Amino acid sequence: MPRSGGHSYGGYSSGDGVVVADVSRLNQVKVSGSRATVGAGANLFGVYAAASNHGVTIPGGSCPTVGIAGLALGGGIGYSARHFGTTADNLARLQIVTADGELLVCDASHHSDLFWACRGGGGGNFGIVTDFTFETHPVSTVSTYEIEWPWAQAAPALAAWQLFAPHAPDALFSVLDLIATDPSAPGARAHVVSAGQYFGPESDLPSLLQPLTSTGTPIRITTGTLSFLDAVVHWAGCRDAATCTEARSTFAAKSDYVAAPLPAAAISTVVNAVAARQGHGRGAIYFDASGGAINRVPKAATAFVHRDSLFSMQYTSGSDDASLTWLANLYAQLRPYVSGFAYQNYIDPNLRTWPHAYYGANLRRLEAVKRKVDPHGFFRFPQSIRPA
Ligand SMILES: Cc1cc2nc3c(=O)[nH]c(=O)nc-3n(C[C@H](O)[C@H](O)[C@H](O)COP(=O)(O)OP(=O)(O)OC[C@H]3O[C@@H](n4cnc5c(N)ncnc54)[C@H](O)[C@@H]3O)c2cc1C
Repeated sequence: MPRSGGHSYGGYSSGDGVVVADVSRLNQVKVSGSRATVGAGANLFGVYAAASNHGVTIPGGSCPTVGIAGLALGGGIGYSARHFGTTADNLARLQIVTADGELLVCDASHHSDLFWACRGGGGGNFGIVTDFTFETHPVSTVSTYEIEWPWAQAAPALAAWQLFAPHAPDALFSVLDLIATDPSAPGARAHVVSAGQYFGPESDLPSLLQPLTSTGTPIRITTGTLSFLDAVVHWAGCRDAATCTEARSTFAAKSDYVAAPLPAAAISTVVNAVAARQGHGRGAIYFDASGGAINRVPKAATAFVHRDSLFSMQYTSGSDDASLTWLANLYAQLRPYVSGFAYQNYIDPNLRTWPHAYYGANLRRLEAVKRKVDPHGFFRFPQSIRPA
C-alpha cells in the first residue's frame, strides 16, 4: 500500500504482510505562478510553510503531520474550505503509477476519469500518486475567533451554531467542539467552544458572529488577526512552527454528515453523552461546517460526493474498552438524525455501509474507473473500491 503521512485511521497504509510504498521522501513543494506542485509525501505543514513563502496557500486540513496524498485523494476539509473548496477541488493535475507500472499524467483532458476518481475517491485505490499540482490562492492575514460558553449552555450554543455556521458567508469557516477533558488534569471540565477563520478584517467579526455571541452568556470571546501561517500553527494546536511536526496521540473515531438541523432530542443526546464522559476518559464531538465553496460543486463533478450537508460530526475517544463502548453507544443513538454519509478520510473499519457512506451515487463510476486501471485489485485493503 502507498503511504504518505501514515495517518489512515484504519491503518490502511501499514500492517502485517502488506507491502508498503512509502512516498514520504517525495516531499518537495514548488510554487510557480498560480500553481504549486507538491510531492505526494509532503506533510501539510510543509505545504503551508512553502506556499506561504510565496504569499499563497492551498486549502488543506488542520493536522500538520497529515500527508498531502491521503488528504487530497479523499477530499480535504479545513479552515479555508468554505472559501476555497476542498483540497481536491483545487487539484489541477497529478501523476500516478498504476498497477501495471505505468506513470500517467492526469488532468481534466488526460485520463480524465482517473483524475475525477482521484478527487475524493480515497487514497490507496487507483495507484501510487507521485505528485499533485494545485491551483494556489494569494493570502496574507486572516481573522480568527473563539467563543466559549459555560457547559450548562452547550445545548443552546449547538442549536445556534448549526443554524449559523453552514449559512455564514463563504469567507468564514467555523467549528463547534464539545469536549470532555482529560480527567487527570486539575480543574478539568467539559468544554463547549466554537472557533473559526475569516478571510476578512477582524472588525467584521462582532456583527458577523452576533448570532453566536448573543446566545447564552459566553465566558470567553476572543478575536485576532494572524498571518496565514500563524493561523495554521494556531489551528494545529502547536506552540510554534518548530513544534508543528511532532507526532500526535492516537484515538478512536467515527463520523457522520448531517443534512437537516439536529432536533432538540439529538442535541440533548450529544450534550448528555459528552457530560457523562467527563471524569471518565477522553471523548469529544467535533462539528465542522459545510456550505460555501464546498457545497457549490455538483456532486458528480468530482468523486467527493458530500456536497449537500450542513456539517460533519466526528466523534473521538480513547481506544480502551470503556471508551469504545461510549463511542459505539453515542453513534447508535444518533442514527435517526444523520444522513447516512460519512467522510472517507475519517475511514472507519467498523462501518459496514462504507461504500454508500463514503461515495453515494459516485460509487458506480468509481468502480468502473477501478476496473479500467486496476482490474485485478492489485491495490486493495478492507475498504478499497472493487472493480465493477
Ligand atoms: C490528527 C488528525 C487530524 C486530521 N485532520 C483532518 C482535517 O483537518 N481535515 C481533513 O480533511 N482530514 C483530516 N484528517 C484525516 C486525514 O485526512 C486522513 O487520515 C488522511 O487519509 C491521512 O493521509 P496520510 O497521507 O497522512 O495517511 P496515509 O495513511 O499515508 O494514507 C491514507 C490513505 O491514502 C493512501 N495513500 C497514501 N499515499 C498515497 C499515494 N501517494 N498515492 C495513493 N494513495 C496514497 C494510503 O494507502 C491510505 O489508504 C486528520 C487525521 C488525523 C489523524
